[in-house]
Amino acid sequence: METSIIIPMQSIYFDNAATTRPLNELDEVYAEYAGGLWQNPSALYAPSVAVQMRIDGARRTLLRAFGGESTHKCFFTSCGTEGANTIILRGARVKKNMNYVCGGLEHPCVEEGFKLLEAQGADVRWVKPDRHGRISADAVREAVDENTALAAIMHVNNETGAKNDIAAIGAAVKGKNPQTLYYADGVQAYLREKRVDISNIDYYTVSAHKVHAHKGTGAIFAKNGTPLKPLLVGGGQEGGMRSGTQDVLGILSFARAVEYFGGVDAEERLAPLRAGFLAAVEEIEGIYVVSPPDGCGHILNIAFEGVNGETLLHAMEGAGIYISTGSACSSKKGKSRVAKTLALPEGVANGTVRISFSVFNTEEEIGRAAEEIKKCVERFRKYKRK
Ligand code: PLP
Repeated sequence: METSIIIPMQSIYFDNAATTRPLNELDEVYAEYAGGLWQNPSALYAPSVAVQMRIDGARRTLLRAFGGESTHKCFFTSCGTEGANTIILRGARVKKNMNYVCGGLEHPCVEEGFKLLEAQGADVRWVKPDRHGRISADAVREAVDENTALAAIMHVNNETGAKNDIAAIGAAVKGKNPQTLYYADGVQAYLREKRVDISNIDYYTVSAHKVHAHKGTGAIFAKNGTPLKPLLVGGGQEGGMRSGTQDVLGILSFARAVEYFGGVDAEERLAPLRAGFLAAVEEIEGIYVVSPPDGCGHILNIAFEGVNGETLLHAMEGAGIYISTGSACSSKKGKSRVAKTLALPEGVANGTVRISFSVFNTEEEIGRAAEEIKKCVERFRKYKRK
């Protein structure tokens, strides 16, 4: 039986940290792909060579937006998760008695990678974030020692929107031990945050579906000369770093999105949306703001005393407004990691909702959603009092 999903016409999508709507501009890429770019990039005849050249062009486009065209290499992967796994499991050369440093609120694709190593007997030092999810360069400096092989601290936290100063963290890591490799997960930050000094960043990972391109494509930026081995072996694509025929459509779409955002000051456009929404809901009694005041512009994590996050999510859904509780990747797993790691107060521990914006959201949508959230919270509290 055929099923279809109906998204109401007037719906508001505020879950852009989970995934984003593909750009209309990608239509041109789809047409080109269907018209001839579907050839296997590894074959030796001219049309395939042309495809490989386009992939290499896409690589340069992605690196340019990162600021690493001459300092880093780009390898395409299937997603941000694959990039993180490759770096953690196949990056730094680890000798006996070496240790790892990892942020205490990394995305599960990083955290679980280090837990795998821990289960094999590795010494992993977890750096505790502050109450908003931020990790300081000082805390990282303290954790790194002469035996640290790899330190992983993300750029923008997907749960709270906390921005880590990865330039300062990289400098702290290298200042303590120049041999330690530094990996920053850039999935939430790439194309949303302004470029930073990347001179001390050995590995950085990005994902196309977070920036209005497709699911199924990601990339690793690895500093020239930094050790990295493939996680997937086989045909030797991507210079032997990632076997498997490349997802040409996904890669070219990713590059098109990067070009598009080259002309958009995302940080400038997102910050007022977040500020406007926060200003409108701040007056609600018992609000608890998990996100830091200086967080990134596209994520706002809040809770309302005594209001369950999942109930609020579904009430908002009823009004055609899509938000999330915690991160979409972990929302089916029960108790929120955010609540545990950030030691949220009892009354709000089950109440966090993540509202995440894109540059395509409007002030009108912000107003409508803020009004709806107010109504929902009031309604729940009235029922509770009865
Ligand atoms: N890292 C962060 C910070 C993320 O937010 C996500 C996805 O939510 C990932 C990694 C994983 O990316 P992907 O969905 O492409 O595997």
